[in-house]
Amino acid sequence: MNEFKCENFIAPADPNETGYVQWKNFLRQWYLHGPYPMSPELRAAAEQGRWGEVLDAEAVPDEANLKPNVQPVSDPRDMIERGAWMRWETQLIRSQRRCPEKITPSAMLHEWYLLRHPDYPRADLPPGYVHLPIEAYTTDDELMPCFTELDAEQQRERGIRRQPYCPRCETNVEMESPQCPDCGQRLGGYVGYSAPGWPRKTDWRPSLPDDYSFYFLAAYLHAPPDMRRMRLLTGSEGQYKLFVNGREVGRYAGDSRWPQWDTDESPEIELDAGWNLLLVKLAHSTTRDDHRFFYSRLENRTAFFARPVTPDNRVVAVHNYADDRFAPECELRITLSDQIPIGPGPTPRLRRFPDGTLVCTNFRSTDNGNSWGPCPTLFVPALGSTFEDTQPADAATWEPQQDPATLVMGLKCWRIGDGVFQSHLCRSTDGWQTRELLDVTLHLEQGADLVDEGNVEAGPGAIRGMNIVGLPDGSLVMPMYGSLKQDVAWFDTRLNGYLKYPQEWPQQFKFRSWVMRSADGGLNWHYHGTIAALPELGDESFGEPNITLLADGSLMALLRNGGGDFASLWMSRSRDGGRTWSYPVPTNTPTGNAPQIEQMPNGVLACAFGRPDSRVAFDHSGSGLAWSHTVVASTCWGNRHVEIAVTDPDTLYCVYADDEMDVHGDRLSSKVRQMYGRHIKVERLSGDGNT
Ligand SMILES: [Zn+2]
Repeated sequence: MNEFKCENFIAPADPNETGYVQWKNFLRQWYLHGPYPMSPELRAAAEQGRWGEVLDAEAVPDEANLKPNVQPVSDPRDMIERGAWMRWETQLIRSQRRCPEKITPSAMLHEWYLLRHPDYPRADLPPGYVHLPIEAYTTDDELMPCFTELDAEQQRERGIRRQPYCPRCETNVEMESPQCPDCGQRLGGYVGYSAPGWPRKTDWRPSLPDDYSFYFLAAYLHAPPDMRRMRLLTGSEGQYKLFVNGREVGRYAGDSRWPQWDTDESPEIELDAGWNLLLVKLAHSTTRDDHRFFYSRLENRTAFFARPVTPDNRVVAVHNYADDRFAPECELRITLSDQIPIGPGPTPRLRRFPDGTLVCTNFRSTDNGNSWGPCPTLFVPALGSTFEDTQPADAATWEPQQDPATLVMGLKCWRIGDGVFQSHLCRSTDGWQTRELLDVTLHLEQGADLVDEGNVEAGPGAIRGMNIVGLPDGSLVMPMYGSLKQDVAWFDTRLNGYLKYPQEWPQQFKFRSWVMRSADGGLNWHYHGTIAALPELGDESFGEPNITLLADGSLMALLRNGGGDFASLWMSRSRDGGRTWSYPVPTNTPTGNAPQIEQMPNGVLACAFGRPDSRVAFDHSGSGLAWSHTVVASTCWGNRHVEIAVTDPDTLYCVYADDEMDVHGDRLSSKVRQMYGRHIKVERLSGDGNT
């Protein structure tokens, strides 16, 4: 307890150091009070943009001296009446996992409301994320667009695979249209694909109205001895007033704007010894006016950012991991470099070629990732499998043994006959300066067109085209996931009592993961063995497999199994070159999706994976059974896709992307991402803790 008679749940952070307070995390401790509706007169002033006047009208008596007062309230509508504040906890709120210093008040209220409101779920039905016929919605429901898969020719012409359309009237729409120009259906971005004829709502919307209201936010700061003066860098979408210990220290009274980091800077603030209280009075106008953040529906609301600057002008950022060292007493010392900007691009895909060249999607580096220049893109979105600027390769002269590190396979394949599919195989033997392209054949007798959440896609699945592994006998193996003919499954996953996937759909599949093998250097691939096909496990079953050959000659696969951000990845082993695989088991640490395993020359096994955040886990035993260390490479969103490559015996390079902000903190346009890299040094320590 501190002098504000309010529990502080982050301090003391270090049990070995009495009284130690992890002060730089203080902005993880937001408290929220509100929303206070504006009076009709004040609302009129707000609508006319007279924000100075609006901010200076007191919503609560003596509001500069408000203090958090956390009380149990069973209905959030009682919060105002009882003066109750709610406390934000790191892992509860989706938005906060990415940027702890950013707060989105209505998102807090939203999750809290859903969890505790006695009327839930009746209060807000039908829910998001289930597929329902259009009749279940009104034009006021915010629906994800549906998508059509374009045919191959249209894909080539337009450079896109899918095209969004309005689920009510089937007019083609832009990805981020707020409403259908034809029928007025309210539309949102997508958080999952809607099936044709079966739209989905974008999220559960809070029922507590907050149009034209004030929120109060509070955070405690325990000033360390070396930081008795600081400035605050703040940013917001809307208008606010900032108080420290009851004194106003800043405000923003201009028009609504893009929410960005560090747009406003307070004067230097003298902190009291011990606890200080930062209070923000935040004006919220209306959601309908807000800008939209792709992929982050809950963030499509009034947001506030803050971070402190130390007297020597260093920004104190919770999500800056540059100086962090991890568990020095536990066998490994892991050090992350500063973030290195790579450039704008789509999803970051990292490949290291045999000469040491790194390619990250559309940038190339010949100095281990310290500097980058543009190059032809690894994968072009159309068909998911085209490569830029290639020469045709001559299949007749293709050697039956190829270095897998020179090969990149397309991500998709298409049917050319019964049980026969075709894809592109690209080879570069000079570090991506020149590229040769071949059409190669996949023999998959049971191959069916993949059905992913009701959308039928050409080909039986997704090829893990950068995960080609060479076996000691010279053959190549490569994982795929999708569905084979026998994988039809009807499943009963329910959300709020609604079936997530309607049983009226003619076909439903859960993912299977399997391995293809080539004995002729990649010209022909044959089904080799299934890693996992267990529809009873997980709401998606097993997808996104990644395989690696371990030192003991076995193959290890890590697999995604659905279940959201905190579900673990699963592991399976093969001791016969990928023909048969052990029953999969959950791993002890890595969570999320799209794993990528790399064996480091120093014997440490590394696994990159997304969701939550972009992370890399390490197994110092090299067995895949003991993921003892995990580092967070970044908390920025970017679809949370992270990839790694070994650059030195004890160093990895990892890449990830931010799809909200560019390097200057300015808003990126839709679908453009700013890619970044970091070196991760992983040193083994001797028993006494020294190197
Ligand atoms: Zn429409």
